Amino acid sequence: MSERILVAVAWPYADGPLHLGHIAGAYLPADIFARYHRTKGNEVLMVSGSDQHGTPITIKAEQEGKKPVDIATKYHEQFLESWQKLGISFDLFTRTETANHAEVTQDIFLTLLNKGYIYKSTVLQPFCPQCQRFLPDRYIEGTCPYCNSPGARGDQCDECGKPVNPSELIDPQCRLCGTTPQFTDTEHFFLKLSAFNDRLLAWVRQQTHWRQNVLNFTTRYLEQGLKDRAITRDINWGIPVPVDGFDSKRIYVWFEAVIGYLSATKEWAKSSGNNAEKWRSFWQGEVKSYYFIGKDNIPFHTIIWPAMLMGYDELNLPYDVPANEFLTIEGKRLSTSRNWAVWLPDYLSRYDPDPLRYQLSINMPETGDTDFSWREFVRRNNDELVATYGNLVNRVLTFTYRSFNGNVPEPGELDSRSQSLLDKAKDTLSTMDELLHDCRFREAMRSAISLAQETNRYLDKKSPWKIIKDDRQTAATALYVAIAVLSTLRTALYPFLPFSSQKLHEFLGFNGNVQDNGWQPNFPPPGQKLIPPQPLFSKLDEEIIEEETKRLGCDHC
Ligand SMILES: [Zn+2]
Ligand SMILES: [Zn+2]
Repeated sequence: MSERILVAVAWPYADGPLHLGHIAGAYLPADIFARYHRTKGNEVLMVSGSDQHGTPITIKAEQEGKKPVDIATKYHEQFLESWQKLGISFDLFTRTETANHAEVTQDIFLTLLNKGYIYKSTVLQPFCPQCQRFLPDRYIEGTCPYCNSPGARGDQCDECGKPVNPSELIDPQCRLCGTTPQFTDTEHFFLKLSAFNDRLLAWVRQQTHWRQNVLNFTTRYLEQGLKDRAITRDINWGIPVPVDGFDSKRIYVWFEAVIGYLSATKEWAKSSGNNAEKWRSFWQGEVKSYYFIGKDNIPFHTIIWPAMLMGYDELNLPYDVPANEFLTIEGKRLSTSRNWAVWLPDYLSRYDPDPLRYQLSINMPETGDTDFSWREFVRRNNDELVATYGNLVNRVLTFTYRSFNGNVPEPGELDSRSQSLLDKAKDTLSTMDELLHDCRFREAMRSAISLAQETNRYLDKKSPWKIIKDDRQTAATALYVAIAVLSTLRTALYPFLPFSSQKLHEFLGFNGNVQDNGWQPNFPPPGQKLIPPQPLFSKLDEEIIEEETKRLGCDHC
């Protein structure tokens, strides 16, 4: 029985390149999950897009003397290229600067307004007397009223992750000139979050399948009580407010960006041909929606977006929000402003995608922060990808190709050790099935690698290369069993390592896409023609550790 799965992935701000924190936090787990479900034969829609309206973009545009749209478009195109090179398999990666997104956003705005969940109110808005302008969210900075950290912005505190209103900041300052802003009256629309507090709490308490960190954070937050939040601001870059008299204001990016999951689905339905109403099958009825995000994004996906959906009242609430923790770099917190980051386009210009996908999968920050270091990257590439898995593939297929005329050999009679390895291969696939279903990616990856290790031990014991002259059938059995395990590994590792799995699929003599094989071992039949294998991975020189580490924190790299 096939399931329907919406894979909704965080919308990256189009104000700078992607880095490994983004990939480990949201994009890689989402892609693994989507590929796994597609292989299972489930109907998957994976969507996201560039968040082009944030104030980070207008600030950058002002600094560089460009138009916000130019900055946003440049990074949007770079994102598309990165997804393609890293193998992040979106069905649609769109952007917030589309007529469709504006239309869907304005529909939600007006529906909530008509139902009384959005209301107008006069608020104190920070105004910089020096710059002669209002200071929306990121244009103002101060001390967080919740955790007392400096550097909290007018929309959110990065330290404790809580949304903040500008007037709540302690010692606020204009980010452009450092002047203390004055607070003046201005009219804005507010989302009546307080009206959803009890319903949200009751709903969240039922989500026992959520990750503990997500559940705890959300519950604590709701127990403190929600405050209504302004959803418009004084800025001219963004989606217009569909109400007369609000020409100089725009819809706030945090309200608009989460609507992107829905607008992207509608865009996908329109562009995929005959049935523009097809979006409904991913938002209504029997469908599960998973939101892949980093932990700094939790309240927007477990509280604010669900509140908007409850108010709109026709669409499914999130089924799961498997938020990841943070990735540190060489033991330190990632910082884009200090260039303490590994940038994805930079990585992809020098290395292959699968080694990075491997490193970030086996060390994914699922239940706590994890660290990326170049030393560990090189070690895992050389010891695990090359020595454990790559060499296994290479020695089995090269030797079989040479000794059995390029064909999968006849298994003959299986001894108990051979049978138990084949059983382990099947068990691994069903264990991984459960783990991947529950978004436990790291453990799933580890069981695949442990199957490769087990197969190496089996071959060391059987030594087909030594016995082939005296006992051709026993050697054939060992090689057949090893090939059967490789055939399982190509499926098991496909969600994680799609490029090398597709190659292995072809070396084993299969046609088409590895995904079409389904989530099953599907051992190749004896006699199947193999293709001469090439090494799946290459060894990395230890020298790159020093070279790459030097780039970190460098202000001209
Ligand atoms: Zn100023
Ligand atoms: Zn804080």
